[in-house]
Amino acid sequence: MKAIKAKHLFHGVHVPDHKALASGKPIENAPEVDLFTVSLSQCLGKPSVPLVKAGDAVKQGQLIADAGGFIGAKIHSPASGTVKSVSDAIVIENDHTYETDYMPALSNPSPEEIKQRIADAGIVGMGGAGFPAFVKLNPQDPVDTLVINGAECEPYLTCDHRLMIERTKEIAEGIRLLSKALGVEKVFIGIEANKPDAIAAFEAFDFIQPVILKKQYPVGSEKHLIYACTGRKVAPGKLPASAGCIVQNVGTCYAVYEAVVLGKPLIERILTLSGGAVVEPKNYVVKIGTPFELLLKDNLTEDAEKIVCGGPMTGAALASLSRTVTKTTGGIVAMTKKETNVEQPTACIGCGKCADVCPMDLMPMNTAFYTAAGEYDLAAKLGGVMNCIECGACAYICPARRPLIQSIRKAKAEIRKGGKK
Ligand code: SF4
Ligand code: SF4
Repeated sequence: MKAIKAKHLFHGVHVPDHKALASGKPIENAPEVDLFTVSLSQCLGKPSVPLVKAGDAVKQGQLIADAGGFIGAKIHSPASGTVKSVSDAIVIENDHTYETDYMPALSNPSPEEIKQRIADAGIVGMGGAGFPAFVKLNPQDPVDTLVINGAECEPYLTCDHRLMIERTKEIAEGIRLLSKALGVEKVFIGIEANKPDAIAAFEAFDFIQPVILKKQYPVGSEKHLIYACTGRKVAPGKLPASAGCIVQNVGTCYAVYEAVVLGKPLIERILTLSGGAVVEPKNYVVKIGTPFELLLKDNLTEDAEKIVCGGPMTGAALASLSRTVTKTTGGIVAMTKKETNVEQPTACIGCGKCADVCPMDLMPMNTAFYTAAGEYDLAAKLGGVMNCIECGACAYICPARRPLIQSIRKAKAEIRKGGKK
């Protein structure tokens, strides 16, 4: 279908996207890994429960941990080899033979078979949040629309862009399977205007409506994407299904294709390595459990100031490189001093810019004020903190460099501790 323009009605910020560093880099295999450290916390939910012990031989794709609860994910071995230890992560020594133990491919599966396969393959939302994909496929409200997130509005990250232009047919097949599982016919894919090749690629499918999103951060957040594609609004505190929609990321669609058509569980993902402090930016196919250190080895400039897991707007700064890739690691961004804002915070000047740009119409300065005073209830009432999507637009725009995101996260954590919603 020919692409259409998005509906546009929200605040937000214009952030330099820095996409050119990696957008022209085709997906390539990451370096060989000798020792994988597969975390048991791979999704937004309970940690998984190990099914192997030290000394066990495993094959690539073999189930090594079960979901820790309904909101949880199964985990499969990224390679064949030997389990070295099990604690809060499963450490596997790679024998480099890559002997596989995949599930049988499914041909013409029923909706229930698709959902079960998605659960069995351990697929979680690949856009960053990491919500188990099969849970979203059993909504409480009736849905009639599937919205695919191809926005990739985080600066520097280009893995979804490369996936959309290099694996278009596979993603489209994943979308077809997801729409069958949900029993919906209306399918939109929202893609930011800075990826015209990806928009054009999806015009080839008559069951997918591409939507050109205006380049404005955070257009890829679920609620804004739904509005941009369908014109429907999701009420504060409600899920997309309340507006008849389910949102899935393009990376998730690709994982669904692999799980159903090839029988391959989620053992690897595409990841962008970028930033001004990266010698050669890359888009890698990388196995879950790969050490960050290996990916950055010999590829960092001497003036690297800050390394972030994810994108610079929503990602977390790394204190060390001891982390390993999980199912939700979409990027590692290494920035120079020039690219990072290392100025110290000053007092709030009451300019209101944080509220002006907030896409959720919140009052971030109120949250910060009341959080500092330990008045978390007021942070919720007068700052609206529990509706915050943690996009970081307020912190980005703040001329006083106030640590708004830290205040928001603290307030949310304290409110949750107190059992308030
Ligand atoms: S308050 Fe939350 S939703 Fe609003 S701009 Fe800040 S991080 Fe984004
Ligand atoms: S943008 Fe910063 S300085 Fe301005 S009101 Fe918000 S917190 Fe205060």
